[in-house]
Amino acid sequence: MSVKNKKEHSELSPSSSSRWCSCPGSMIYIDLPEQVKDYTAEGTKAHDLAAYCLNEGVYAEHLMGFTDSNGKVQQADDKTMVSNVNEYLSVCYSLSEDNFVKMIEQSIDLSKVYGIPEQFGRADFITYDPEEKLLTVIDYKNGYTKVSAKENKQGISYALGAVDSVKSFGEVEKIKIVIVQPAIKSCDVWECTRSIADRVYLKAFRRAACRAWDILADYKIHKKEPDERNFTPSEENCRFCKGKGVCKALAKANLESISDDLAELIEVNPEKTPEVIEQAVENVTGLSNEQLSTIYSNIGLISNWINAVQGIVLQKLIAGESIPGYKAVLGSAGNRKWSDANEVEKIMKSLRLKKDEMYSFKIISPAKAEKLLKSNPRKWARLDEQITRGEPKPVIVPEADKRPAYVDKIDEEIDELCEQKGEQAEEFEVCPDDFEIDETNLL
Ligand code: SF4
Repeated sequence: MSVKNKKEHSELSPSSSSRWCSCPGSMIYIDLPEQVKDYTAEGTKAHDLAAYCLNEGVYAEHLMGFTDSNGKVQQADDKTMVSNVNEYLSVCYSLSEDNFVKMIEQSIDLSKVYGIPEQFGRADFITYDPEEKLLTVIDYKNGYTKVSAKENKQGISYALGAVDSVKSFGEVEKIKIVIVQPAIKSCDVWECTRSIADRVYLKAFRRAACRAWDILADYKIHKKEPDERNFTPSEENCRFCKGKGVCKALAKANLESISDDLAELIEVNPEKTPEVIEQAVENVTGLSNEQLSTIYSNIGLISNWINAVQGIVLQKLIAGESIPGYKAVLGSAGNRKWSDANEVEKIMKSLRLKKDEMYSFKIISPAKAEKLLKSNPRKWARLDEQITRGEPKPVIVPEADKRPAYVDKIDEEIDELCEQKGEQAEEFEVCPDDFEIDETNLL
C-alpha cells in the first residue's frame, strides 16, 4: 500500500521546527543562502541511497549504482555510507511488515498541523500498522551530534501530518518516533498516544507556528525586524541556522559569554574589539573554576559563530562585495592524483618501468590484519603482541560521560609523597637548634 507524493518545500520546515519554535526570530533568515558543506552532500546521498533501497526492498551492500532524487545514477562505493545505510534499513525493515502502509521519502502535508496553509515536509520513512493502529516515523540522521527521539519536533510533525494520509486505512492511536544515527551507533525510540499528541503537541505547534509566521510576514511585508525577545541563541538552535553569520543576538550571546565588556563592542565600539579580546585572553588564567565551566560550555556556540562569520565574509567577497581590508584568492590546489589508474598503469608499462618502480607495497594495518585473522585467535595473538600505540591524551568530556575521570598520575604520586613527608615531619619534629650550620656550603 502506498500514498501519493505532494509538494516538498515550505517556510515552516519540519527539519528546523525545533529552531522556529524556540527562536522564531530565525524566520527572517530563511531566504539566506545555505552554507553548503561536504557533509550536507554526503547526507543527501545517504538519504537517496536509503530511499532507493527501501523502494526496491533490498540492502545497500550489493548495489553497484542507484538512482538519486534528481534521477542521476550514483555509485554506492563508500563503504562507511553503505554500512550506515544498511543499519538504518535493518531498523526500517524490522519495523514494517507486508500489510503495513509504507511511505518512503514522502511529502507530508503539514498545513493542518501548523495551522498555516501550504506547509509541507519530506519524511524519510513512515509505516502504519492497521492492526496495532500504530504510526511509526523513522528518521535517518547522518551526523555525529546525538538527536533524541523524545518529543522530537520534526518526528511529531510528520506523525501528526501523516495521520490524515493513512486515514483511509484506519485510525491512529499510537505514535512512535525512531531516530537512527548509525555514525554514533544510536537508535533512539520514543512513543506517545495519539490523544497526547493532539492535546499537547498539536496545540504547541499551532501557537509557535502562528508566532513564527507573524514574524516572517512583518519582516517581508513591513520590513520590521523582530525584537530581541524573539531570538534564543543556543548551540542546538544556531548550529544550522542560515543567519548565524549575521545574527546580532548570537554575536551578543557569544561575546557576553567571554566578557560583559565585549558584549557592548559588537554594536557600540567594534574597532576596540581586538584590545578587549587581548585583555580577555590575559584574564583567562585568573578565572574561577565556575567561570571556566560557564565559558567552556559556550565554546561550541562561539566557534559556530566564528565559522559563520568566516563563511559569510568569503561568500560576500566571492560575490564581488567589498569587505574593507580583505579579498578572496584561490588557495593551493588539492593533492595530485591519477585521473585513471588503469590508464596510468598501461603508460608506465609502455615506458618499461620496473614493477618495484611502479608499485609501492605496504604491510597491512593492525585493523586489517585483525579482520583477516579474527577467525583464528592463535594466529592473531602472535601479531597482536607486535602492536604498539601512542599514549592516550586527556580530553574534556561532559561529567555524565561513562569513562572514569582521569587525573595526572604524577600529580597523584607527588600528593602521596607530600602526605607521607608531612606525616614523617610530624613524627620527627625538627628543632632548628639541633642543627649546626656548615658555612662552607653557603655561597
Ligand atoms: S543564529 Fe541562533 S539566535 Fe540567531 S536567529 Fe539563528 S537560531 Fe536564532
